[in-house]
Amino acid sequence: MAWDFSTDPEFQDHLDWLTELMHTDIEPLDHYFRGRSPFDKTDEEVQSQLRRIQEKVKDRGLWACHLKPEMGGMGFGQVQLALMNEILGRSSFGPSAFGSQAPDSGNAEILAHYGNDEQKEKYLKPLLAGEISTCYSMTEPQGGSDPNHFTCTAHRDGDEWVINGEKWFASNYPRAEFLIVMLITNPDVSVYRGSSMMLVPHDAPGLELVRNVGVGGERRGHGSHSYLRFNECRVPAENLMGEEGAGFKIAQTRLGGGRVHHAMRSVGTAKKAFDMMCERALSRETKGSLLAEKQAVQHMIADSWIQVEQFRLQVLHAAWQIDQSDTSKARLYIAGVKVATPRVLMDVVFRSMQIHGSLGMSNETPLANMWMMAPTFGVADGPTEVHKDTIAKQVLKDYRPSEGLFPTEHLPAKIEWAQQVMAERIEQELLNA
Ligand SMILES: Cc1cc2nc3c(=O)[nH]c(=O)nc-3n(C[C@H](O)[C@H](O)[C@H](O)COP(=O)(O)OP(=O)(O)OC[C@H]3O[C@@H](n4cnc5c(N)ncnc54)[C@H](O)[C@@H]3O)c2cc1C
Repeated sequence: MAWDFSTDPEFQDHLDWLTELMHTDIEPLDHYFRGRSPFDKTDEEVQSQLRRIQEKVKDRGLWACHLKPEMGGMGFGQVQLALMNEILGRSSFGPSAFGSQAPDSGNAEILAHYGNDEQKEKYLKPLLAGEISTCYSMTEPQGGSDPNHFTCTAHRDGDEWVINGEKWFASNYPRAEFLIVMLITNPDVSVYRGSSMMLVPHDAPGLELVRNVGVGGERRGHGSHSYLRFNECRVPAENLMGEEGAGFKIAQTRLGGGRVHHAMRSVGTAKKAFDMMCERALSRETKGSLLAEKQAVQHMIADSWIQVEQFRLQVLHAAWQIDQSDTSKARLYIAGVKVATPRVLMDVVFRSMQIHGSLGMSNETPLANMWMMAPTFGVADGPTEVHKDTIAKQVLKDYRPSEGLFPTEHLPAKIEWAQQVMAERIEQELLNA
Protein backbone atom coordinates (compact mmCIF):
# COMPACT_ATOMS: atom_id res chain seq x y z
CA MET A 1 0.00 0.00 0.00
CA ALA A 2 1.71 3.21 -1.11
CA TRP A 3 -0.72 5.96 -0.09
CA ASP A 4 1.25 8.39 2.04
CA PHE A 5 0.59 12.05 2.83
CA SER A 6 3.75 12.61 4.86
CA THR A 7 6.89 14.50 3.86
CA ASP A 8 10.19 12.69 4.32
CA PRO A 9 12.13 14.14 7.29
CA GLU A 10 15.13 15.26 5.21
CA PHE A 11 12.95 17.35 2.89
CA GLN A 12 10.84 18.58 5.82
CA ASP A 13 14.11 20.01 7.20
CA HIS A 14 14.43 22.11 4.04
CA LEU A 15 10.79 23.25 4.33
CA ASP A 16 11.27 24.23 7.99
CA TRP A 17 14.41 26.16 7.07
CA LEU A 18 12.52 27.88 4.24
CA THR A 19 9.62 28.80 6.55
CA GLU A 20 12.05 30.37 9.03
CA LEU A 21 13.93 32.25 6.28
CA MET A 22 10.62 33.51 4.95
CA HIS A 23 9.73 34.91 8.36
CA THR A 24 13.09 36.42 9.30
CA ASP A 25 14.53 37.59 5.97
CA ILE A 26 12.07 37.59 3.07
CA GLU A 27 8.74 38.88 4.41
CA PRO A 28 10.38 42.05 5.81
CA LEU A 29 11.33 42.96 2.22
CA ASP A 30 7.65 42.93 1.18
CA HIS A 31 6.91 45.63 3.71
CA TYR A 32 10.15 47.59 3.64
CA PHE A 33 10.26 47.79 -0.17
CA ARG A 34 6.50 48.10 -0.71
CA GLY A 35 5.77 49.25 -4.28
CA ARG A 36 9.28 48.33 -5.47
CA SER A 37 9.97 45.27 -7.57
CA PRO A 38 12.34 42.35 -7.08
CA PHE A 39 12.60 42.23 -10.90
CA ASP A 40 14.20 45.67 -11.14
CA LYS A 41 17.91 44.86 -11.42
CA THR A 42 18.73 48.58 -11.47
CA ASP A 43 17.35 49.06 -7.94
CA GLU A 44 20.63 48.42 -6.15
CA GLU A 45 19.14 48.73 -2.65
CA VAL A 46 16.56 46.00 -3.36
CA GLN A 47 19.04 43.82 -5.26
CA SER A 48 21.72 43.93 -2.56
CA GLN A 49 19.19 42.79 0.07
CA LEU A 50 17.98 40.06 -2.28
CA ARG A 51 21.54 38.92 -3.04
CA ARG A 52 22.23 38.46 0.67
CA ILE A 53 19.28 36.06 0.91
CA GLN A 54 20.04 34.39 -2.43
CA GLU A 55 23.53 33.51 -1.11
CA LYS A 56 21.95 31.71 1.85
CA VAL A 57 19.60 29.88 -0.52
CA LYS A 58 22.52 28.85 -2.76
CA ASP A 59 24.57 27.67 0.24
CA ARG A 60 21.63 25.51 1.25
CA GLY A 61 21.45 24.08 -2.31
CA LEU A 62 17.90 25.34 -2.92
CA TRP A 63 18.60 27.81 -5.76
CA ALA A 64 16.61 27.32 -9.03
CA CYS A 65 15.80 23.82 -7.90
CA HIS A 66 13.07 23.43 -10.58
CA LEU A 67 15.92 22.68 -13.02
CA LYS A 68 17.52 19.27 -13.44
CA PRO A 69 21.08 18.92 -11.99
CA GLU A 70 22.65 18.81 -15.46
CA MET A 71 20.90 22.11 -16.17
CA GLY A 72 22.15 23.79 -13.02
CA GLY A 73 19.40 23.00 -10.51
CA MET A 74 18.55 20.41 -7.87
CA GLY A 75 16.23 18.27 -9.98
CA PHE A 76 13.50 18.25 -7.38
CA GLY A 77 10.26 16.56 -8.39
CA GLN A 78 7.05 18.55 -8.79
CA VAL A 79 5.68 17.48 -5.39
CA GLN A 80 8.77 18.87 -3.68
CA LEU A 81 8.60 22.05 -5.77
CA ALA A 82 4.90 22.39 -4.97
CA LEU A 83 5.57 22.16 -1.22
CA MET A 84 8.28 24.82 -1.51
CA ASN A 85 6.06 27.10 -3.59
CA GLU A 86 3.30 26.84 -1.00
CA ILE A 87 5.61 28.63 1.43
CA LEU A 88 7.03 31.04 -1.16
CA GLY A 89 3.48 32.12 -2.10
CA ARG A 90 3.23 34.07 1.14
CA SER A 91 5.60 36.78 -0.13
CA SER A 92 6.04 38.62 -3.45
CA PHE A 93 9.84 38.54 -2.94
CA GLY A 94 9.88 34.79 -2.12
CA PRO A 95 10.26 33.34 -5.65
CA SER A 96 13.02 35.87 -6.52
CA ALA A 97 14.98 34.84 -3.44
CA PHE A 98 14.91 31.23 -4.69
CA GLY A 99 15.48 31.81 -8.42
CA SER A 100 12.02 30.47 -9.20
CA GLN A 101 10.13 33.65 -10.16
CA ALA A 102 7.89 33.71 -13.24
CA PRO A 103 8.48 34.36 -16.08
CA ASP A 104 12.22 33.75 -15.48
CA SER A 105 11.81 30.22 -14.11
CA GLY A 106 9.86 29.02 -17.17
CA ASN A 107 12.27 30.80 -19.52
CA ALA A 108 15.24 29.16 -17.79
CA GLU A 109 13.48 25.81 -18.13
CA ILE A 110 13.01 26.08 -21.90
CA LEU A 111 16.47 27.55 -22.45
CA ALA A 112 17.97 24.65 -20.53
CA HIS A 113 15.83 22.22 -22.53
CA TYR A 114 15.99 23.64 -26.06
CA GLY A 115 18.80 26.22 -26.07
CA ASN A 116 22.09 25.39 -27.81
CA ASP A 117 25.46 25.82 -26.06
CA GLU A 118 25.93 29.44 -27.20
CA GLN A 119 22.39 30.39 -26.16
CA LYS A 120 22.90 28.78 -22.77
CA GLU A 121 26.15 30.66 -22.26
CA LYS A 122 24.74 34.01 -23.39
CA TYR A 123 21.19 33.92 -21.97
CA LEU A 124 20.80 31.09 -19.44
CA LYS A 125 24.00 31.67 -17.48
CA PRO A 126 23.26 35.26 -16.37
CA LEU A 127 19.61 34.32 -15.82
CA LEU A 128 20.54 31.50 -13.46
CA ALA A 129 23.03 33.73 -11.72
CA GLY A 130 20.12 36.06 -10.91
CA GLU A 131 21.81 38.92 -12.80
CA ILE A 132 19.04 39.61 -15.32
CA SER A 133 15.24 39.51 -15.70
CA THR A 134 13.44 38.20 -18.77
CA CYS A 135 10.10 38.27 -20.56
CA TYR A 136 7.96 35.69 -22.37
CA SER A 137 5.74 36.98 -25.16
CA MET A 138 3.07 34.97 -26.94
CA THR A 139 -0.26 36.83 -26.66
CA GLU A 140 -1.27 39.26 -29.41
CA PRO A 141 -3.74 42.16 -29.19
CA GLN A 142 -6.26 40.48 -31.51
CA GLY A 143 -5.98 37.01 -29.99
CA GLY A 144 -4.77 35.47 -26.76
CA SER A 145 -6.70 32.29 -25.98
CA ASP A 146 -6.57 30.97 -29.51
CA PRO A 147 -3.10 30.83 -31.13
CA ASN A 148 -4.80 30.38 -34.52
CA HIS A 149 -5.30 34.15 -34.43
CA PHE A 150 -1.59 34.91 -34.05
CA THR A 151 -0.20 36.95 -36.95
CA CYS A 152 3.19 38.20 -35.71
CA THR A 153 5.67 36.67 -38.17
CA ALA A 154 9.38 36.12 -38.66
CA HIS A 155 10.96 35.38 -42.03
CA ARG A 156 14.56 34.59 -42.89
CA ASP A 157 16.62 37.20 -44.71
CA GLY A 158 20.21 36.00 -45.09
CA ASP A 159 21.77 35.67 -41.65
CA GLU A 160 18.85 37.31 -39.90
CA TRP A 161 15.22 36.82 -38.92
CA VAL A 162 12.94 39.76 -39.70
CA ILE A 163 10.01 40.14 -37.32
CA ASN A 164 6.77 42.02 -38.05
CA GLY A 165 3.60 42.35 -35.98
CA GLU A 166 2.40 43.07 -32.47
CA LYS A 167 2.48 41.40 -29.07
CA TRP A 168 0.35 42.20 -26.05
CA PHE A 169 0.66 41.87 -22.26
CA ALA A 170 4.32 40.87 -22.35
CA SER A 171 4.88 40.81 -18.57
CA ASN A 172 8.14 42.17 -17.25
CA TYR A 173 9.32 43.55 -20.61
CA PRO A 174 10.30 46.91 -19.05
CA ARG A 175 12.90 45.14 -16.88
CA ALA A 176 13.82 42.30 -19.21
CA GLU A 177 17.25 41.88 -20.78
CA PHE A 178 15.70 39.71 -23.50
CA LEU A 179 12.34 38.23 -24.56
CA ILE A 180 11.42 34.78 -25.74
CA VAL A 181 8.83 35.41 -28.44
CA MET A 182 6.52 33.00 -30.22
CA LEU A 183 6.39 33.84 -33.93
CA ILE A 184 4.77 32.44 -37.05
CA THR A 185 7.62 31.23 -39.27
CA ASN A 186 5.46 29.21 -41.67
CA PRO A 187 2.02 30.75 -42.29
CA ASP A 188 1.10 27.94 -44.71
CA VAL A 189 0.60 25.32 -41.99
CA SER A 190 -1.28 25.41 -38.68
CA VAL A 191 0.19 27.46 -35.84
CA TYR A 192 0.86 24.20 -34.01
CA ARG A 193 3.48 23.31 -36.64
CA GLY A 194 4.27 26.72 -38.11
CA SER A 195 5.38 28.71 -35.06
CA SER A 196 8.89 29.07 -33.63
CA MET A 197 10.52 30.56 -30.54
CA MET A 198 12.96 33.41 -30.94
CA LEU A 199 15.33 35.13 -28.51
CA VAL A 200 14.95 38.88 -28.93
CA PRO A 201 17.12 41.39 -27.05
CA HIS A 202 15.20 44.13 -25.20
CA ASP A 203 16.55 46.84 -27.51
CA ALA A 204 16.61 44.92 -30.81
CA PRO A 205 16.44 47.39 -33.75
CA GLY A 206 12.82 47.74 -34.86
CA LEU A 207 11.28 46.66 -31.54
CA GLU A 208 8.95 49.45 -30.43
CA LEU A 209 7.29 49.80 -27.03
CA VAL A 210 3.76 51.04 -27.77
CA ARG A 211 3.02 51.40 -24.04
CA ASN A 212 3.24 49.67 -20.70
CA VAL A 213 -0.12 48.40 -19.49
CA GLY A 214 -0.89 48.15 -15.77
CA VAL A 215 -3.33 45.96 -13.89
CA GLY A 216 -6.15 47.17 -11.64
CA GLY A 217 -5.53 50.56 -10.15
CA GLU A 218 -1.94 50.97 -11.34
CA ARG A 219 -1.25 54.43 -12.74
CA ARG A 220 -1.45 54.72 -16.54
CA GLY A 221 1.88 54.05 -18.21
CA HIS A 222 3.35 52.50 -15.05
CA GLY A 223 2.41 48.87 -15.59
CA SER A 224 4.80 46.05 -16.36
CA HIS A 225 2.75 44.31 -19.10
CA SER A 226 3.90 45.70 -22.41
CA TYR A 227 2.21 46.30 -25.72
CA LEU A 228 4.97 45.77 -28.31
CA ARG A 229 5.29 46.40 -32.02
CA PHE A 230 7.89 44.76 -34.26
CA ASN A 231 8.69 46.92 -37.31
CA GLU A 232 11.06 44.93 -39.54
CA CYS A 233 12.83 44.01 -36.29
CA ARG A 234 16.02 42.09 -37.02
CA VAL A 235 17.67 39.42 -34.90
CA PRO A 236 20.57 37.11 -35.88
CA ALA A 237 19.64 33.72 -37.38
CA GLU A 238 21.18 31.94 -34.38
CA ASN A 239 18.50 33.45 -32.10
CA LEU A 240 16.03 30.74 -33.11
CA MET A 241 15.46 28.48 -30.10
CA GLY A 242 15.11 24.76 -30.82
CA GLU A 243 13.85 23.63 -34.22
CA GLU A 244 11.98 25.86 -36.64
CA GLY A 245 8.28 24.97 -36.19
CA ALA A 246 8.71 23.75 -32.59
CA GLY A 247 7.28 26.91 -30.99
CA PHE A 248 4.10 25.34 -29.72
CA LYS A 249 5.84 22.28 -28.30
CA ILE A 250 8.28 24.53 -26.43
CA ALA A 251 5.39 26.62 -25.07
CA GLN A 252 3.72 23.49 -23.71
CA THR A 253 6.93 22.40 -21.95
CA ARG A 254 7.07 25.76 -20.27
CA LEU A 255 3.51 25.96 -19.04
CA GLY A 256 2.85 22.63 -17.34
CA GLY A 257 5.06 22.81 -14.25
CA GLY A 258 4.62 26.59 -14.09
CA ARG A 259 0.84 26.26 -13.70
CA VAL A 260 1.27 23.86 -10.79
CA HIS A 261 3.77 26.23 -9.12
CA HIS A 262 1.39 29.18 -9.56
CA ALA A 263 -1.38 27.07 -8.07
CA MET A 264 0.69 26.04 -5.06
CA ARG A 265 1.78 29.63 -4.47
CA SER A 266 -1.94 30.43 -4.51
CA VAL A 267 -2.46 27.79 -1.81
CA GLY A 268 0.10 29.77 0.23
CA THR A 269 -1.71 33.04 -0.50
CA ALA A 270 -5.14 31.57 0.29
CA LYS A 271 -3.74 30.08 3.51
CA LYS A 272 -2.41 33.49 4.54
CA ALA A 273 -5.86 35.06 3.94
CA PHE A 274 -7.39 32.16 5.91
CA ASP A 275 -4.96 32.61 8.84
CA MET A 276 -5.87 36.31 8.93
CA MET A 277 -9.58 35.43 8.87
CA CYS A 278 -9.25 33.08 11.86
CA GLU A 279 -7.15 35.51 13.90
CA ARG A 280 -9.61 38.34 13.24
CA ALA A 281 -12.61 36.16 14.14
CA LEU A 282 -10.99 35.41 17.50
CA SER A 283 -10.05 39.05 18.11
CA ARG A 284 -13.13 41.11 17.18
CA GLU A 285 -16.20 41.36 19.38
CA THR A 286 -19.59 42.68 18.30
CA LYS A 287 -23.15 42.40 19.69
CA GLY A 288 -21.95 40.71 22.86
CA SER A 289 -19.78 37.93 21.41
CA LEU A 290 -16.67 37.25 19.38
CA LEU A 291 -17.07 36.97 15.60
CA ALA A 292 -15.73 33.42 16.01
CA GLU A 293 -18.82 32.55 18.08
CA LYS A 294 -21.29 33.56 15.38
CA GLN A 295 -22.57 30.73 13.23
CA ALA A 296 -22.37 32.70 9.98
CA VAL A 297 -18.68 33.38 10.62
CA GLN A 298 -18.03 29.78 11.66
CA HIS A 299 -19.50 28.65 8.34
CA MET A 300 -17.22 31.03 6.43
CA ILE A 301 -14.24 29.59 8.29
CA ALA A 302 -15.40 26.00 7.68
CA ASP A 303 -16.10 26.60 3.97
CA SER A 304 -12.70 28.25 3.55
CA TRP A 305 -10.83 25.49 5.38
CA ILE A 306 -12.52 22.84 3.21
CA GLN A 307 -11.72 24.70 -0.02
CA VAL A 308 -8.07 25.30 0.88
CA GLU A 309 -7.63 21.70 2.02
CA GLN A 310 -9.26 20.26 -1.13
CA PHE A 311 -7.29 22.58 -3.38
CA ARG A 312 -3.98 21.82 -1.65
CA LEU A 313 -4.48 18.09 -2.09
CA GLN A 314 -5.59 18.57 -5.70
CA VAL A 315 -2.43 20.55 -6.50
CA LEU A 316 -0.17 18.02 -4.77
CA HIS A 317 -1.88 15.22 -6.65
CA ALA A 318 -1.39 17.03 -9.99
CA ALA A 319 2.29 17.52 -9.10
CA TRP A 320 2.54 13.82 -8.25
CA GLN A 321 0.93 12.94 -11.60
CA ILE A 322 3.65 14.92 -13.43
CA ASP A 323 6.33 13.13 -11.37
CA GLN A 324 4.83 9.75 -12.34
CA SER A 325 4.84 10.43 -16.08
CA ASP A 326 5.39 13.84 -17.64
CA THR A 327 3.65 17.13 -18.21
CA SER A 328 1.77 16.03 -21.34
CA LYS A 329 0.28 12.94 -19.67
CA ALA A 330 -0.76 15.00 -16.63
CA ARG A 331 -2.65 17.57 -18.77
CA LEU A 332 -6.03 16.75 -17.25
CA TYR A 333 -4.76 17.29 -13.70
CA ILE A 334 -2.86 20.47 -14.56
CA ALA A 335 -5.96 21.94 -16.27
CA GLY A 336 -7.96 21.00 -13.14
CA VAL A 337 -5.75 23.02 -10.79
CA LYS A 338 -5.58 25.89 -13.28
CA VAL A 339 -9.40 26.16 -13.20
CA ALA A 340 -9.62 25.77 -9.41
CA THR A 341 -6.99 28.45 -8.60
CA PRO A 342 -8.95 31.70 -9.16
CA ARG A 343 -12.13 30.27 -7.64
CA VAL A 344 -10.51 29.20 -4.35
CA LEU A 345 -8.47 32.37 -4.05
CA MET A 346 -11.48 34.57 -4.78
CA ASP A 347 -13.74 32.78 -2.30
CA VAL A 348 -11.26 32.65 0.58
CA VAL A 349 -9.89 36.18 0.14
CA PHE A 350 -13.43 37.54 -0.20
CA ARG A 351 -14.51 35.93 3.09
CA SER A 352 -11.39 37.15 4.84
CA MET A 353 -12.03 40.71 3.60
CA GLN A 354 -15.65 40.46 4.74
CA ILE A 355 -14.69 39.33 8.24
CA HIS A 356 -12.17 42.19 8.49
CA GLY A 357 -14.92 44.73 7.64
CA SER A 358 -13.66 48.17 6.64
CA LEU A 359 -10.09 47.16 7.49
CA GLY A 360 -10.39 44.36 4.92
CA MET A 361 -11.21 46.88 2.17
CA SER A 362 -8.40 49.21 3.19
CA ASN A 363 -4.82 49.48 2.01
CA GLU A 364 -3.63 48.52 5.48
CA THR A 365 -3.82 44.74 5.00
CA PRO A 366 -2.49 42.56 2.13
CA LEU A 367 -6.04 41.38 1.36
CA ALA A 368 -6.96 43.94 -1.32
CA ASN A 369 -3.83 43.03 -3.31
CA MET A 370 -4.64 39.34 -3.00
CA TRP A 371 -8.15 40.12 -4.27
CA MET A 372 -6.72 41.81 -7.37
CA MET A 373 -4.58 38.75 -8.09
CA ALA A 374 -7.45 36.25 -8.02
CA PRO A 375 -9.15 37.06 -11.36
CA THR A 376 -5.81 37.30 -13.17
CA PHE A 377 -5.32 33.58 -12.51
CA GLY A 378 -8.54 32.94 -14.45
CA VAL A 379 -7.09 34.58 -17.58
CA ALA A 380 -3.26 34.49 -17.56
CA ASP A 381 -1.78 31.33 -19.14
CA GLY A 382 -5.13 30.73 -20.88
CA PRO A 383 -8.65 31.40 -19.59
CA THR A 384 -10.66 29.08 -17.38
CA GLU A 385 -13.10 28.21 -20.18
CA VAL A 386 -10.33 26.83 -22.41
CA HIS A 387 -8.95 24.69 -19.57
CA LYS A 388 -12.45 23.40 -18.86
CA ASP A 389 -12.68 22.38 -22.53
CA THR A 390 -9.42 20.45 -22.07
CA ILE A 391 -10.76 18.73 -18.95
CA ALA A 392 -13.99 17.67 -20.64
CA LYS A 393 -12.18 16.41 -23.75
CA GLN A 394 -9.67 14.42 -21.71
CA VAL A 395 -12.34 12.96 -19.43
CA LEU A 396 -14.64 11.99 -22.31
CA LYS A 397 -11.85 9.90 -23.87
CA ASP A 398 -12.61 7.28 -21.21
CA TYR A 399 -16.33 7.06 -22.06
CA ARG A 400 -18.38 5.49 -24.87
CA PRO A 401 -21.97 6.17 -26.02
CA SER A 402 -24.63 3.80 -24.68
CA GLU A 403 -25.30 0.89 -26.98
CA GLY A 404 -29.07 1.12 -27.10
CA LEU A 405 -31.70 3.85 -27.10
CA PHE A 406 -31.65 4.14 -23.31
CA PRO A 407 -28.66 4.76 -21.01
CA THR A 408 -26.71 1.82 -19.57
CA GLU A 409 -28.07 2.61 -16.11
CA HIS A 410 -31.71 2.70 -17.29
CA LEU A 411 -33.54 0.93 -14.46
CA PRO A 412 -35.99 -1.28 -16.40
CA ALA A 413 -33.10 -2.88 -18.30
CA LYS A 414 -31.00 -3.13 -15.15
CA ILE A 415 -33.82 -4.90 -13.26
CA GLU A 416 -34.34 -7.33 -16.13
CA TRP A 417 -30.60 -8.04 -16.21
CA ALA A 418 -30.46 -8.51 -12.39
CA GLN A 419 -33.43 -10.90 -12.51
CA GLN A 420 -31.68 -12.98 -15.14
CA VAL A 421 -28.38 -13.06 -13.18
CA MET A 422 -30.15 -13.97 -9.95
CA ALA A 423 -32.32 -16.66 -11.62
CA GLU A 424 -29.18 -18.33 -13.01
CA ARG A 425 -27.45 -18.10 -9.62
CA ILE A 426 -30.44 -19.58 -7.72
CA GLU A 427 -30.74 -22.38 -10.27
CA GLN A 428 -27.01 -23.12 -9.88
CA GLU A 429 -27.35 -23.16 -6.07
CA LEU A 430 -30.31 -25.60 -6.30
CA LEU A 431 -28.30 -27.87 -8.58
CA ASN A 432 -25.35 -27.77 -6.14
CA ALA A 433 -27.55 -28.38 -3.06
C1 LIG B 1 -1.58 39.29 -15.25
C2 LIG B 1 -1.40 38.75 -16.63
C3 LIG B 1 -0.11 38.47 -17.08
C4 LIG B 1 0.09 37.99 -18.39
N1 LIG B 1 1.37 37.79 -18.83
C5 LIG B 1 1.57 37.39 -20.10
C6 LIG B 1 2.90 37.22 -20.59
O1 LIG B 1 3.89 37.43 -19.87
N2 LIG B 1 3.08 36.83 -21.89
C7 LIG B 1 2.02 36.59 -22.71
O2 LIG B 1 2.25 36.21 -23.84
N3 LIG B 1 0.74 36.74 -22.27
C8 LIG B 1 0.49 37.15 -21.00
N4 LIG B 1 -0.79 37.34 -20.54
C9 LIG B 1 -1.89 37.19 -21.48
C10 LIG B 1 -2.68 35.92 -21.26
O3 LIG B 1 -1.96 34.78 -21.62
C11 LIG B 1 -3.97 36.12 -22.06
O4 LIG B 1 -4.69 37.14 -21.41
C12 LIG B 1 -4.83 34.87 -22.17
O5 LIG B 1 -4.25 33.90 -22.99
C13 LIG B 1 -6.22 35.22 -22.71
O6 LIG B 1 -6.12 35.92 -23.91
P1 LIG B 1 -6.93 37.31 -24.10
O7 LIG B 1 -6.58 38.20 -22.96
O8 LIG B 1 -6.66 37.78 -25.47
O9 LIG B 1 -8.43 36.94 -23.94
P2 LIG B 1 -9.41 36.43 -25.10
O10 LIG B 1 -8.74 35.38 -25.91
O11 LIG B 1 -9.97 37.60 -25.81
O12 LIG B 1 -10.55 35.78 -24.21
C14 LIG B 1 -11.42 36.61 -23.45
C15 LIG B 1 -12.42 35.76 -22.71
O13 LIG B 1 -13.20 35.03 -23.64
C16 LIG B 1 -13.59 33.80 -23.09
N5 LIG B 1 -13.08 32.70 -23.92
C17 LIG B 1 -11.91 32.63 -24.59
N6 LIG B 1 -11.80 31.46 -25.24
C18 LIG B 1 -12.92 30.76 -24.98
C19 LIG B 1 -13.40 29.47 -25.33
N7 LIG B 1 -12.66 28.66 -26.12
N8 LIG B 1 -14.59 29.09 -24.86
C20 LIG B 1 -15.34 29.90 -24.08
N9 LIG B 1 -14.94 31.12 -23.70
C21 LIG B 1 -13.75 31.55 -24.13
C22 LIG B 1 -12.95 33.74 -21.70
O14 LIG B 1 -13.87 34.19 -20.74
C23 LIG B 1 -11.80 34.70 -21.82
O15 LIG B 1 -11.35 35.21 -20.58
C24 LIG B 1 -1.03 37.78 -19.24
C25 LIG B 1 -2.32 38.02 -18.76
C26 LIG B 1 -2.52 38.50 -17.49
C27 LIG B 1 -3.91 38.80 -17.01
